[in-house]
This record gives sequence, structure tokens and C-alpha cells, in this order.
Amino acid sequence: VTRPAADEVEARLRRHRAELIDEALRFPAVYREYQRYQGDYDLAALQRERMASLLAHAAARVPVYRGLAVDDPISTLARFPLVAKAELRANLADHCDDELDPAQCRAVFTTGTSGQPLRVLHDADHLAHTAALALRRAVRLGLPFDRKVLHPFHSNLDRWVEYTSAGSGFARVAEFGSTGDEAYWSEVVERIRGFRPDVVVGHPTACVRLAELLAGLDATAPVAVLTWGERLAPGMAERITTVLGAPVLDGYGLREVSTVAAQCASGAYHIEGERIWVEVVDDSGAAVPDGEVGELVVTNLVNRAMPLIRYRTGDLGSLAPAGQRCACGLPHRMLTLVEGRTPGSLVRPDGSRAPTIVLLRKLARLPVERYQVVQVARDEVRVIVKRLDGFTPEHQRSIVEDAVALLGAAVRVELDLDGGFVAHGGRKAVDFVSLLPEGDR
Ligand SMILES: [Zn+2]
Repeated sequence: VTRPAADEVEARLRRHRAELIDEALRFPAVYREYQRYQGDYDLAALQRERMASLLAHAAARVPVYRGLAVDDPISTLARFPLVAKAELRANLADHCDDELDPAQCRAVFTTGTSGQPLRVLHDADHLAHTAALALRRAVRLGLPFDRKVLHPFHSNLDRWVEYTSAGSGFARVAEFGSTGDEAYWSEVVERIRGFRPDVVVGHPTACVRLAELLAGLDATAPVAVLTWGERLAPGMAERITTVLGAPVLDGYGLREVSTVAAQCASGAYHIEGERIWVEVVDDSGAAVPDGEVGELVVTNLVNRAMPLIRYRTGDLGSLAPAGQRCACGLPHRMLTLVEGRTPGSLVRPDGSRAPTIVLLRKLARLPVERYQVVQVARDEVRVIVKRLDGFTPEHQRSIVEDAVALLGAAVRVELDLDGGFVAHGGRKAVDFVSLLPEGDR
């Protein structure tokens, strides 16, 4: 990993300052919602009210949902179609509010399983409610508004940077780059010890790296380490807690909807029910009983600019029964996450297994709108893509070469460049389908 060029870092910092001003201007709305959330309210009633209002809005003003009948919010929701990322990307404008005001929105970009990034618009309400609930989580941990936050290891920084984030309640934030020489790392360690963060926020791998950097040194323990964005393995949490002397609380979310659930002090993931409704479905898209594992499907109850309703996350998990309470006392429903996004294995002619994900990751880098790997037989694999501009014969050759490198020359690789995707159960967008007999997979 090389250090980012100084002019790229300057450009990034300039963009970041502009974002900080934008967030600061939104803070009055954040604080207003935060105060409302400090009051007493019935979560279930709030959810029904927000769901009813969202679905009525969608049916009236969002093209893909136009005219859908809306009555009881929960049974109405079940009649709305599931939405997969590829469909959303292909049909973006039809998922937006007819009377959208772009000046009030911010766009987030997600990459992921199919090459092209997806743009999702968040409106002012979404931004205010998301920030207000994040602030409430911080305050519940005993952190003040003007807390000190450390974001360790930024690959696009070449230095230590500090700033005040008015938009998150006037937090003092420090970040530092992830590459440098010995002198750089001694400086970073000294700065961390001087900064004395109240809270560390980052991907689990970055927090583990921070623990390695500070191991054996005497540094003040933060109140908590908040992780997000990657699976937090138990060994990682243990390592972080041992070195930094603070509990690790993980969050689960998607850029498309921001935080979905966050861990409480008892370790349970509580759904952020004020903003997010979660369902769990099987391969055919039907609801599974509470406690059973399936694909998590989320609805953003707040964002109107581009309502995400029954959006398929591709992640696996299960819902605790609605009435089940956590020891921490929160009324928010609990979610169990299961190692998700594991597409299963390809089987070679000799019966050995090959990780499909290796092939899928390579396909994800090609100029294709969507891709799918289908194992037809032990010695036959079909790769289906829907090409975008810029797809060349070299890309075509690379697909075959990558498949042969993974599976061996005895496997016949068939290519379909025009998107004749295979449906699997009721799921429209699965990246890997195995047609081998059940016992052979
Ligand atoms: Zn809890």
C-alpha cells in the first residue's frame, strides 16, 4: 500500500470541509429530532404511523409504486414487491419521488456485487433522523455531545487531522492515515495518547490495527469502541477490548439506508425501529417464522426522496419474536446476524470445492451491469453477464481464464454475454446458482 499523494489528500480535505459545513447547517433539525426522541413514545405506534405515511407517499408519488392500494400498513407492506439492488439500479428514476428536490438531498454511492455503483438519494429528514438516533446512542453510552472521537487508519489520508463536527453535536474528531514511516507512527502514537479519545469508531480491522499499534503502551481507555462495515469476529472484539480496555459495540447497516441495528451493552443487535423496518424472507421471498434464518429485507420508514421499501440486503439473519425483551430494557426488536453473503461453493470434476466468491469478485470488476455463475454440471459452468459499454473481447477472455484457473481445464466454461439470467426460487437476482443434485453440492 502506497501513501496517497499530498494533492489528493488536500482535495479530499477540501471536500470534507464542505461536507462538515453542510452537516453543521443541518444540526438544528438533528437536535430537534433528538429532543423528540428523548421524550416518551410508543415505538410500535410510531412505526405504524410512519409505515402508513411512507406507503401512502410511495403509492401517490413514486412511479414504481403508483396506484398500489394502501390500507393497514403491515398487510399493505406485504403486497409491495421485494426490490433487489440490480433492479433498483436499472430503474433508478422510477424509484424517486416525482416532486424530488435535489437541493435537499444527498447522494450515497454503493458498490458491491455487480460492477456498477448504485446511487441512493437521502433527503433532509433521513439525514436528521439518522444523526439524531446516533446522537441518542452516544448519550446512552454516557458520552457528552462534545465527545472526542478517533477514526483510525484512513487509507486516503497521509497525516493526522483534527476537526470539530458541528453536525454530530460538536464532537472533536481525529483521523490519521494508514501508511507511513517509523517517524510517522511514533508521532501518531503520541498524538493518540495526547488526544485521549472518548470513543473509537471504525471498521473492525482498523480497530484491531489500532490495538496492535497501542499494545503494551499506557493509554487512557475510551468509553467504547464502535465498529461497523465488516463482520466483527469474536476474536477481534476480544483483542480490541483486551488492549484498549473498552467494550466493543458493533453496528450493522447498509449505505443505502445507514444504520439498521446496533449492539447494546448486553451484546444484542437492536433494530433502529424508529427508522427501519426489517423482515426476513426465504428463497421464494416468503416471510420465515421468527427465529428462523433468511435474507434480511429492510424498509426505510423516513426517507421520501427515494423510498427503499422491502429492499433486499443479501445479508442473512433472523428476528427475535416481537415480544422478547433484552436485559438492557430497550423496546427495540432484536436481530441475529448470520455470516452472510456466502454464495456457496462450486464443485470441481474430482469433487473438491472451489470458493465461488473468488470468481464473483473478479466478475464484479468488469464493465457489466449484472453477472451470474451457474454450475450446470461438475464439468460445466455457465457465466452469464449483461455487458456495459467498454466490455471488450479481452474481458470476455479473462472470464474464461479466471474460471479455468479456479476450476481446472477439465471444466467447460460457457459464456452468455446477453444476460439470460437463471431465476432461482423466487429470487430474481442471485449471483450463484448450483444446478447440481442437492447431495452433490
Ligand atoms: Zn439490549
